[in-house]
Amino acid sequence: MRTADAVVLTSKDIDGKLSELAAAGIKLSLAEPCRCGNCNGLLDRVSPATETPGHAPDPGETNVWRCRSCEQRFWKGSHWSNVAERLAEH
Ligand SMILES: [Zn+2]
Repeated sequence: MRTADAVVLTSKDIDGKLSELAAAGIKLSLAEPCRCGNCNGLLDRVSPATETPGHAPDPGETNVWRCRSCEQRFWKGSHWSNVAERLAEH
């Protein structure tokens, strides 16, 4: 069920899939945000002095990234922490 460049995942749930990857020697980790989750465009870090829309945090207090293509803003919110905790469990 494994070739040189592929692993077959049989679990239906995310935790099961992460366990299978860990058992295959593949450890996932979070990197700095670099691609837009909306359009896959490249992200640029927003300068701390830049104003952001009301729904986004102040870039002077929190790291914020902006998509070059669709201008959506991203930051490491509670979802980021939840993903990091989940990855750390495997
Ligand atoms: Zn985008």
